[in-house]
Amino acid sequence: MLNQGIGSWPARRARKTPDRVAVVHEEGSRTYRELHRRVLRLAHGLRALGVAQGDRVAYLGPNHPAFLEALFAAVALGAVFVPLNTRLAAPELAYNLADSGSTVLVHAPEQAGAARAAADRAGVRLRIALAGPAEGVLGYEELLAGACEEPLDVAVAPDDPCMIMYTSGTTGRPKGAVLSHANITWNSVNVLVDTDLAGDEVTLVVAPLFHTGGLNMTCLPTLLKGGRVVLHGAFDAQRVLETVERLGVTYMFGVPTMYDAMAALPRWATTDLSSLRSLNCGGAPVPARTIAAYLERGLAFSQGYGMTEASPGVLYLDKEQAAAKAGSTGVPHFFTDTRVVRADGRDAAPGERGEVLVQGPHVMTGYWGRPEDTAAAFADGDWLRTGDIARTDADGYAYIVDRVKDMYVSGGENVYPAEVEDAILAHPAVAECAVIGVPDPRWGEVGRAVVVLRPGADAGEQDILDHLRGRLAKYKIPKSVVLADTLPRTASGKIVKPAVRDLHAS
Ligand code: ATP
Ligand code: MG
Repeated sequence: MLNQGIGSWPARRARKTPDRVAVVHEEGSRTYRELHRRVLRLAHGLRALGVAQGDRVAYLGPNHPAFLEALFAAVALGAVFVPLNTRLAAPELAYNLADSGSTVLVHAPEQAGAARAAADRAGVRLRIALAGPAEGVLGYEELLAGACEEPLDVAVAPDDPCMIMYTSGTTGRPKGAVLSHANITWNSVNVLVDTDLAGDEVTLVVAPLFHTGGLNMTCLPTLLKGGRVVLHGAFDAQRVLETVERLGVTYMFGVPTMYDAMAALPRWATTDLSSLRSLNCGGAPVPARTIAAYLERGLAFSQGYGMTEASPGVLYLDKEQAAAKAGSTGVPHFFTDTRVVRADGRDAAPGERGEVLVQGPHVMTGYWGRPEDTAAAFADGDWLRTGDIARTDADGYAYIVDRVKDMYVSGGENVYPAEVEDAILAHPAVAECAVIGVPDPRWGEVGRAVVVLRPGADAGEQDILDHLRGRLAKYKIPKSVVLADTLPRTASGKIVKPAVRDLHAS
């Protein structure tokens, strides 16, 4: 095969395991043979519309088999796939479309209005709607129906760009990380080497495919191995528990808020979870109480740390170590190297804190169209700066402490909000919380905790401060507690600290 990119995966799988089920969705399931055929048709359809090597093809919609078909078809032509966040408003979508220079937008019915507005604004040449043709829009199934299933003759090299994946936008405007075919393949290899993911896997995908956790940590490694992916359009805790039982799910990835929501349901105690071989959690700090809830049920609960720019896996805590090293995100993936570097540029000793740097064949080459941001993202040559602070223990296991940007200094002492948040979350009345630094005439900065209580729970500022006394050093205890109804979160479940500061800092 000329194509060494991930666009060739459906064809290669169809050659080996044509009759295995590849994708399950409420609208039906498809075998690898069917997936391969539909990808070929879509690729020919796109080619007939002028899509060529290097062009950018965007996708906007919830998790659906068409997401995977569009990805494989676009990149089989050597085009670059641009998954878009369904939570964004039309002007934000237009920014991403224009920033990536996308010429084609495939979109779901739920996003028709936003897709039209954003595509017009960004000058996108062509729209393709899953719901069928409309004025100025082509129909997705109609495009497939009119195309052939001839093999493709496009040469794709491992280092060619495969996707422009936007970061979550937790610290500012999302940036487009350019991930090559090799980057994504090596990440999948890391996942397959470090987990027990097998050809008979039934992987439930509830995290959004437009983020790297949903697509690259779960879906693509499962498809590479010939397993089955079950797609849920959106996360619904009740439906997850039902699906695990009904379809015998063996593996899933979720962010901590998802695992918390599942464990909080009445159904949690009675659901048969025996099919689950492994659960993977990551993308944000995992509260100790979350890990405990899953280990208590005897489940293998592994943790991962990563970022879009690294395709994304960087550190991984094996399920065998989950209890012994609870709170750690583990050691680097098999083909990954990391360093923890102090502010003075020296490598940190065990126990010392510093920024995590990462290198490996899965690390992006740069941000799309942003040479300055790209240059700033790398240190000492090829080491990607993560912007996260960690320490390692004597065995080399890493503990993510916080983001560099979220740390604040109170009376000359560094405070890492994640540590304070974990202590506050141990209060039984607290559902969610975020700690920020606010200016203070005496200490420079002091902490402020923004707390969301559990439904029906009753606790005041003083209760929470009393709870922290004795658990944390005095300088780490927030000076004020604000009760709120919700916290601003990204689609990947992370608290958006800049938005918390805008709402609650003054
Ligand atoms: P942006 O870069 O646009 O501000 P983002 O960094 O949130 O957004 P992602 O690439 O989705 O975008 O997230 C990567 C970040 O998520 C990491 O840099 C880290 O801060 C956080 N993270 C990921 N996994 C973990 C984990 N297991 N523990 C703590 N933090 C984590
Ligand atoms: Mg980031």
